[in-house]
Amino acid sequence: MVKETAYYDELGVKPNSTPDEIKKAYRKLALKYHPDKNPDDPEKFKHISQAYEVLSDPKKRETYDRGGEEAIKGGGSGSGGFDFHSPMDIFDMFFGGGGRRQRGPEKGKDVVHPLKVALEDLYNGATRKLSLKKKVICAKCEGRGGKEGAVEKCPTCKGQGIQVHLRQLGPGMVQQLQTMCSECHGKGERINPKLRCKTCMGKKTVEDHKILEVHVDKGMKDGESIRFAGEGDQEPGLEPGDIVIVLDEKEHAVFRRRETDLIMDMDLQLVEALCGFQKTIETLDGRTLVITNLPGEVIKNDDIKCIMGEGMPIYRDPFTKGRLIIRFKVVFPKPGDIAPTKIAELEKCLPPREEVIIPDGAEEHSLTDYDPEYERRRQRAGEAYREDDEEGHGGGQRVQCASH
Ligand SMILES: [Zn+2]
Ligand SMILES: [Zn+2]
Repeated sequence: MVKETAYYDELGVKPNSTPDEIKKAYRKLALKYHPDKNPDDPEKFKHISQAYEVLSDPKKRETYDRGGEEAIKGGGSGSGGFDFHSPMDIFDMFFGGGGRRQRGPEKGKDVVHPLKVALEDLYNGATRKLSLKKKVICAKCEGRGGKEGAVEKCPTCKGQGIQVHLRQLGPGMVQQLQTMCSECHGKGERINPKLRCKTCMGKKTVEDHKILEVHVDKGMKDGESIRFAGEGDQEPGLEPGDIVIVLDEKEHAVFRRRETDLIMDMDLQLVEALCGFQKTIETLDGRTLVITNLPGEVIKNDDIKCIMGEGMPIYRDPFTKGRLIIRFKVVFPKPGDIAPTKIAELEKCLPPREEVIIPDGAEEHSLTDYDPEYERRRQRAGEAYREDDEEGHGGGQRVQCASH
């Protein structure tokens, strides 16, 4: 039992989730709520990131499970609190971008885009055209923001990039506050309005549409990224970052994937389970497979069989494929489906029953349908009863009247 579930709820996972499930949940939500995609809800992005930061670390997760958010934030006893990383740092670390290079020119930010793909795309391979917006250096002013000599010292902050405000706290007491210059956003320079480039309005970059052709290779996985080096936003003085496309696999109606295996459930009527069957399976590349089970090769509910070489193709070795795993679900007849007169006939075909010896004095009972909620219902009924009782002490008279 965990103390709180808020972090799990934030990621939409259960408290017993595996690290992989937590990773996957974070990836999907982080891409969805990244401020680039969803500027209206920065809080959500922060919450997802904090939840992931805790739950992705076995030690922190254990602390949280034991003591809840209070233990993590340092209110509880023991290990003490820790400072959360910025949501952007967590995001950049997760998607492997953003890391500044030690050598060479400074590099701009990587831009991460999710790409929804069907399981069929990952099986057969696919090419997708993706239309993206990106910033490019303004060709008109070559990234200067205006004509020659247009750049001048910011008159508001005098080139400092900061503004200093004085605040009177009391007699003789003045507090000095420094804020980023609102005129030049901390750059310390501005473009002379008279010489400003009309194409980019002095911003040095313009927005451009770019069509990226993304090749999804056979056997690629959910969450795998495809990097387009240097295709990120351009900015004067910076080497552009990369565009990173992250594959996001859509759920398939029939197959689930586990590494190179494909897994499916197959319903079998009881007659098929006992007397053999032929069934067809439509593959992800549109072929039809036929499987045969001979009469008498009984299949039980939850039995698992495989077809070798009909799973997912292996990345960079696409002629080799994993297994297709079939889990059988035996559909039993419903009460009343078999006519009473047929039951005796059926019994003759089945292996004989075991004889039961009923001793004298054995107690007879009837069977009730199982209710999984039974215990909770019973406890709730008990609580309601106690609450009534407590209320009763206030107005004892009424209770006495009621109980007599
Ligand atoms: Zn300024
Ligand atoms: Zn320009």
